[in-house]
Amino acid sequence: MPHTERLYYTDCYLKEFNARIIRSSPDPRGARVYLDRTAFYPESGGQPSDHGMLAGNPLLDVIDEGDEVAHIIAEDPPFKPVHGSIDWARRFDHMQQHTGQHILSAAFERSGGYKTVSFHLGTEGATIDLDSDRVGARQMDGAEELANQVVFENRPVQISFRPAGEVQHLDLRKPTFRAGDIRLVEIEEFDLSACGGTHVNRTGGVGIISIRKVERAKGLTRVEFGCGGRAQRRARQDFAVLTEAARLFSTGLENVPELIAKQAQDLRDAGKDVQKLMADLAEMEASQLWQQAPEKDGVRVVQCLFAAAEGKKAKLTAHAVGKHAGAIALIGVKGTPTALFFSQTPGGKANVADLMKQTLAKFGGKGGGSRDFAQAGGMPEDQLEAALSFAKSLLP
Ligand SMILES: [Zn+2]
Repeated sequence: MPHTERLYYTDCYLKEFNARIIRSSPDPRGARVYLDRTAFYPESGGQPSDHGMLAGNPLLDVIDEGDEVAHIIAEDPPFKPVHGSIDWARRFDHMQQHTGQHILSAAFERSGGYKTVSFHLGTEGATIDLDSDRVGARQMDGAEELANQVVFENRPVQISFRPAGEVQHLDLRKPTFRAGDIRLVEIEEFDLSACGGTHVNRTGGVGIISIRKVERAKGLTRVEFGCGGRAQRRARQDFAVLTEAARLFSTGLENVPELIAKQAQDLRDAGKDVQKLMADLAEMEASQLWQQAPEKDGVRVVQCLFAAAEGKKAKLTAHAVGKHAGAIALIGVKGTPTALFFSQTPGGKANVADLMKQTLAKFGGKGGGSRDFAQAGGMPEDQLEAALSFAKSLLP
């Protein structure tokens, strides 16, 4: 049975290696190449596969096939010794996140008895799912604190192989059901796990472990975290965002939340003031328009056009005209869309809903209302004047 020697099992820091091609087969993406030994990590256990170069070709994928590891590259190389080199920045990032995950999972288990049921490592975020949706903020802080303590102590991370029969008697964080030799990853006096992934050799290499986001659902708590380089980059982004917010508010970083709350309140208050002022203004304009309108049989018809920006005021004015005795308002608003507001003194002789209906039938647009107030929109702007005159001509 062919078997690929996995160099990363014993040396996670190996960045380049030489190997022999055992065989290769066609693949939709090019060739599927099998080597006698490899330092490339295939996707497994929540950790993505390595990138890099093999025999002068960019590595497209690395696949774990049990005993063997398949390397996908675009060109089938000739059967001669080949050289492989790992995209080290990507791999080291994975080593930091993966080792950090062991530490954080063990910290949750030790500080609160929470077990990690799954682990996912993506290009942006890394997450673990804990077996409870009742992990509170204090427990989050406690686990993060403990995890970083273990990092600061720079404990050794040791790899060993033990037969499955022996491993069953060990106190693993999560039991393993694999057969044969089991690879064990031990963080000194803190965590013992069966794992085939790549890890840093001392906890200090993980760097800061930082919890970024917590979501609780369906009996689980999903904890997003970042370690080392990721934690540093996120901290830098946070700092840039907060600095920009502080600059916009002309204040120190620590005052930003308080100022946002205060400005939001000021904005709500100002909005109320503007509404009140606009209503007062509409009342005044309505009085003026009503007084200027000629009186006929005790009724004054106010007919006028408002500019596009005055839509809100136009509606308020139509209502305000209706507060005067014996009044009818026929008001149009220019712009896109256009608007019409018809109103009368409540209980007046006209029916402005009817008036609106007939006007819309002739000039287009959509709308409706009651006997004393109606509104519409969507008629052509150049027809507004004619529409208002037409509505007026319908009055007795
Ligand atoms: Zn691991």
